[in-house]
Amino acid sequence: MRLSQRVKNLPPYLFVEISRKIAEKRARGEEVISFAIGDPDIPTPPHIIERLCEAARDPANHRYPESDSLPELRQAVADWYERRFGISFDPDKEVLPLIGSKEGIAHIAFCFIDRGDIALVPDPGYPVYSVSTMLANGEVYYLPLREEADFLPNLKAVPSHILSRAKLLWLNYPNNPTAAVADLDFFNRVVEFARQHDLIVCHDGPYTEVAYDGYRPVSFMQAEGAREVGVEFHSLSKSYNMTGWRIGMAVGNATAIDALKRLKSNLDSGIPQAIQLAAIAALTGPQDCIEEHNAIYQRRRDLIVEVLNSIGLKARPPKASLYIWARVPEGYSSVDFTTDLLDQVGVAVTPGIGYGKHGEGYVRLSLTIPDATLVKGLSRLSGWRSSRRQIIK
Ligand SMILES: *Cc1c(COP(=O)(O)O)cnc(C)c1O
Repeated sequence: MRLSQRVKNLPPYLFVEISRKIAEKRARGEEVISFAIGDPDIPTPPHIIERLCEAARDPANHRYPESDSLPELRQAVADWYERRFGISFDPDKEVLPLIGSKEGIAHIAFCFIDRGDIALVPDPGYPVYSVSTMLANGEVYYLPLREEADFLPNLKAVPSHILSRAKLLWLNYPNNPTAAVADLDFFNRVVEFARQHDLIVCHDGPYTEVAYDGYRPVSFMQAEGAREVGVEFHSLSKSYNMTGWRIGMAVGNATAIDALKRLKSNLDSGIPQAIQLAAIAALTGPQDCIEEHNAIYQRRRDLIVEVLNSIGLKARPPKASLYIWARVPEGYSSVDFTTDLLDQVGVAVTPGIGYGKHGEGYVRLSLTIPDATLVKGLSRLSGWRSSRRQIIK
């Protein structure tokens, strides 16, 4: 059997060693408390599940769905964007539901990238942006996200020989893994940059509804002229705790949406219709769950940040997203620290290097840890001691 070069080139799983350690500990009967997984622990709200169950019983929903989804779903997405961000989209031309946003994020590379084309990709970042570029035979140029610059890329620093081959710019705010946010001013500059260099902007925004202290994240699509240069990926996964149901959407530039629709109609057969109907219930039904969940995450955020700072990490409470991006103590790499934490106190976090070279020096902790486990996790974390400092002393 001879695998394709494409598959052979897929990056190796970065946490092999750490995952092996976790598995070993668990096999020995030791409990490992994990802050490593970004997947809401709170169930999908009951009214959404009710709609899903009801829809699942209706034979009309047992057949192949339309590949561009129910018109009612596209309308519900357009209405949601109108209510939430004050932007109106044509539900037939500017909205495309997806089998989870990751699906669309991965596939859009095939709409814009030919061999040798470049995608500009944030580092650290969600790995799908770079892997999909490579699967489409494109090349990745990484945009460092630095703490001094509030984890926003310095677009002016991209060399002109790169820009002449670049076709696509990936952005993601509120950001995973850094939890940084962007304002409209930044997005307006992005549109200007995209116009100048003829780039499509793909903004990944699944965390716009997960925010704290009254902060309301903006949408890239609110920027002046955004619709001429870009699309935004959004998802029901994080807003409504629906990661397991796989439903998201792309909105924005009609040419890009049409390209993605045409590509997808050759690859998949749409989103199971019962899930589309549940998504309509989520988008059009009561929205109280969002605030309720955010209040829970915010309380966890404050508890975790306090403990991290007390043991020598540097963490600031994020305004949005499900993550805390913390600087590891002096003398540790992100993997050293992660390994030491696991060995000493049986707590798992994600080493920043897994999200790219510029993630080195940081670890990511997720707020999606059930409260009972969190209490135990915090008490273990507070018992961690830097062995490095002790050796130096
Ligand atoms: C969770 C997440 C997604 C994808 O979510 P789906 O469940 O596929 O909709 C996309 N981008 C980022 C940055 C994420 O963290």
